Amino acid sequence: MTDCLFCKIIAGDIPSDKVYEDDAVFAFKDIQPKAPTHVLVIPKIHIPTLADAKDPAMLGNLMDKVNHVANDVLKLEAGYRIVINVRKGGGQEVFHLHAHILGDTSGKTRLPF
Ligand code: 5GP
Ligand code: ZN
Repeated sequence: MTDCLFCKIIAGDIPSDKVYEDDAVFAFKDIQPKAPTHVLVIPKIHIPTLADAKDPAMLGNLMDKVNHVANDVLKLEAGYRIVINVRKGGGQEVFHLHAHILGDTSGKTRLPF
C-alpha cells in the first residue's frame, strides 16, 4: 500500500534498523523504544489491524517469527512481552498490523514496560 508508513519501511523507501527479514515478515527497532529492547514484527502484506486478519496460517507464522526474533535474534532469555494494539481505542497509531516485542537482554528490567 503506497500510503502506509510500514509498507514504505518494508520497501526500503523509509530507513529502519532491521533485525530480521524473510519472505513473509520484517522486523525492525521501534523509533521510540518503550523498553530497553523494543522491536516491531510486521507481515509483508498490508493488513491494517489484527481485527482485519482472516488468515490463520499468516497469523500463526507471524507469531512463530515473533518467537524466533525474540529468542534467537534478540536473545531475550529472561522473557519478553508481546503487544498488539488494535484500532485507535486500543492505542494503535500505525495501521499496518504489527506485534511489539518488549524486553531487556540484561534481564534487569521487569514489567511494566
Ligand atoms: P502502535 O501504537 O500503532 O501499536 O505502534 C506504532 C509504533 O511504531 C510506535 O511504537 C512508534 O514508536 C513506532 N513508529 C512510528 N513511526 C516509526 C518509524 O518511522 N520508524 C520506526 N522504526 N518506528 C516507528
Ligand atoms: Zn502497510
